[in-house]
Formats: sequence, structure tokens, C-alpha cells
Amino acid sequence: MTARTLFDKVWERHVVVPETASNPATLYIDLHLIHEVTSPQAFTDIENRGFGVRRPDRTLATIDHSTPTRINPDGSRPYVTDHAEKQVETLLANTREHGIETHGWESEHRGIVHVMGPELGATQPGMTIVCGDSHTSTHGAFGAVAFGIGTTQVGHVLATQCLLMTKPKTMAINVNGNLSEGVTPKDVILHIISSIGVGGGTGYALEYRGSVFEDMSMSGRMTVCNMSIEAGARCGMIGPDQTTFDFIRGRKFAPKNFDTACRNWVSLRTDGGAVFDREVHIRAEDIAPMVTYGTHPGMAISVDRTIPKAGTDADSGALDYMRLESGKPVAGTKVDRVFIGSCTNSRLEDLRAAAHVLRGRKVAGGLTAIVVPGSTLTKYQAEEEGLDRIFLEAGAEWREAGCSMCLGMNGDIGSPGDLVVSTSNRNFMGRQGPGVRTILASPQTAAATAVTGVITDPRTMETMV
Ligand code: SF4
Repeated sequence: MTARTLFDKVWERHVVVPETASNPATLYIDLHLIHEVTSPQAFTDIENRGFGVRRPDRTLATIDHSTPTRINPDGSRPYVTDHAEKQVETLLANTREHGIETHGWESEHRGIVHVMGPELGATQPGMTIVCGDSHTSTHGAFGAVAFGIGTTQVGHVLATQCLLMTKPKTMAINVNGNLSEGVTPKDVILHIISSIGVGGGTGYALEYRGSVFEDMSMSGRMTVCNMSIEAGARCGMIGPDQTTFDFIRGRKFAPKNFDTACRNWVSLRTDGGAVFDREVHIRAEDIAPMVTYGTHPGMAISVDRTIPKAGTDADSGALDYMRLESGKPVAGTKVDRVFIGSCTNSRLEDLRAAAHVLRGRKVAGGLTAIVVPGSTLTKYQAEEEGLDRIFLEAGAEWREAGCSMCLGMNGDIGSPGDLVVSTSNRNFMGRQGPGVRTILASPQTAAATAVTGVITDPRTMETMV
């Protein structure tokens, strides 16, 4: 039998109607994650056409984008607009009506949809997973084919549990060797995107391979796969292994016959000799802590480097927007805000890393730092470990779970002109508020920056004081 890749195996198991020269394949979807932003219109569409939800049991909902991360003293929630509140209420009403399991305000799993799925054990190897959100690629960390879809497609999946899709090509991103001290999964993925470019993954399903990913925790793997879309890829995956199984075991949706499931999942790994359409090789030793300096995630450099010369007009426009000058060191640039959160870096491991740097230190005067856990459970776990006290004693804000300042739909935004070091995944113009300038970085770099008030190489900090 021909050697096959992980992607090919998962894809083939889900094809209902094969692709032809004129039509995409019809793909069965195992898990549909929904939230308040992209689902209301989709529910209206299917209801107008007389359809119900085909598989409510394969659909899982939460509220994350428009949810306030503060609570008023009287316990009410300060929605940024009536529209934001209506989005949440509409989601809750729709899911109630259609019998969809929903993690709303009362659930400890409420939070960012890409944190919730894995936390519940709903994300599993070999699945096809979709959500009306670009960063659904996060779930590929478990060996799933997971990708974001638009509102119209959300309606298609609600009504049919299937999706029309053209099969992408496959690309292996091999990273082997030993990561240097202070280099995190966020640095690995920023290095990869800056190497292959923001369009480098277009038309491909990526598989991250090599010793660096084998040695990485599930939290780190999720950080890496989360940003696959930022290289233009359809999805990103990592072969399931013991680390994957240990993460899933015991969670709410973990298979009852777990050992049988693990044997099945292992068989999904890419066969020896399988051929990818493209292979990229990166040495782990070449990766340093990274920061972005432009207006897309591919404009990233080692934090100890100088800002490169603008190669194109677009790059030079980006530098103008960022008010950064080529030839100058990026470290030492004054920062107004630090945001630690988002589906890229809001898990317990990320919060521990940030707290490790902030312990016993103070946030620099004039700088605002907010820490937003990815889910309510993550918040509780962090509080059990005392991480909240470390953040609060340092002078950072400790918020309720949600997307928060990643996109600012809930009103958590910067002021025009602010320079924000953010652990999120997109640094597009105005993403964190009109005129706000975003620098993407790891939790360690963000925390070090919060302490000094300027972009800081975390390797220069004495971690313990
Ligand atoms: S944290 Fe950001 S990228 Fe992730 S789901 Fe929320 S808005 Fe999207």
C-alpha cells in the first residue's frame, strides 16, 4: 500500500463524495464549534430554508469574542454595545432551541472556543473540525484536520454536517535539533512564518514534524498550529503520540474505550516514506525569541536584531504605520500596553511562563498590562496556583476569560497610537483598536516587556528575583 501522510489518511476517512475536475469533495465533519459572532446569521439562514441542525450532538458552543472580561460590582456584565449583548443572547437562544451543548456564563469551560474544545477532550486525533473562526487550525495539534469556515459554510455544516472542500496539497515543516534557552513554541511558529512567508503555506495543509514538535507539550503544539493560518495554510497538524493521548485521557469527551482509540490514532501518523508536495527544513538552533515589527506575522525578527530594511512598498508602509525605523534595534522600543491572552497563548502553561517572569517584579510605570485566561477553568487553575496574585501584585490586570484584546470586539482595545506587545496571532493595522500598533511575541517576552516598559529580550532578565 502506498505510504500516506497524516493529512491524507484523515481526509480519506471523511470523503462522502470524491472531488472531481469540476466539483470539490463533500467532506463529513466530526465536530462543529460555534460561537456568537459567526453563527447567528447561519441559524437564520437554515431556519429560513426550513432546515434544522443535522447533528446537534456533533456541535459545541461557547461565547468568547464579544464577552466582557470585567464584571461590574453589582455582578452585571458591561457589554461594550447592545449589539455585543444581542450576539451572546442570540447564540444562547439558538443553541437552546436546537439542543446544542453550550458553555455559557455558568460553565467553567466557557472561554475561547479553541481553548474550550481541547479542554473538554472534544478535540481528538483523526477528526475533521470546523468553526467560523480562522484559528480553528489550533485543533490540528491533536492530529485533526481543522480549519476555519465562513458564515455561509457554518450554515452548510449546521444543516448537513458536511462541507464542500477542495483537497489542499501537503507540506512538511521539519524542525529538528535543540531549542535554545528562552525559545518558546511562539518563537518557533513566528520563525517558521517569517521563513516561508505569509503566503508560503497557501494551498497547503501543513504537518509540523521533527524532534522539536515531538518534545513539545500539547499547549505548545496548539500555539504552533494556531498560527498555521498566518502562513496562509488551510490547516496545520502534528502526528498524535503519547503526549496527545495523555492530554485527552480523562477529559469529558475522551472515548470510553480509550486504549482502542489510541491504537487507532497511532495508525494515523504519517507513514515512513510518505511523500509531501513540499518539505521545509529548519534548524532548532537557528531560532531565537521573536517579535514582529510590521503589520503581518511574517514581518518578524529575533528580538536582538535590528529592524530590516523595507523590501517592498508595502513593508515600508508597514514601518510607517508602526513608527519603526529600519536599521534600529527593535529591543528598547517604548511600549504602552501588554496583552497576555488569546487562543495562541492563554493556557495555563502560558500564564505560568508569564508569571515566572513577573513574580516579585512590577509592571513599568505608565504601562498597562492585562492578563486574560483562555477559559474559566484555566482561570480557576491559575488562581489555585496563585498566579493571579503574582499578576495583581505586579500591577497587571487579571480578567475574566475571553478573546479580549486579540480582536477587541468586546471593547478591550488600545488607544490610537498605542504600541502593544501582544501574545495573540495577528498584528494587522487596527486589529487591537483604531491606530493601535501591535507587536506579536511570546508570553515570556510580553512579561519581560511589561516589567521594563520597552521591548525586551526575555533572555536578558534574571528570571528569579
Ligand atoms: S482569541 Fe483572537 S484569534 Fe482566537 S478565537 Fe478569539 S478573536 Fe479569534
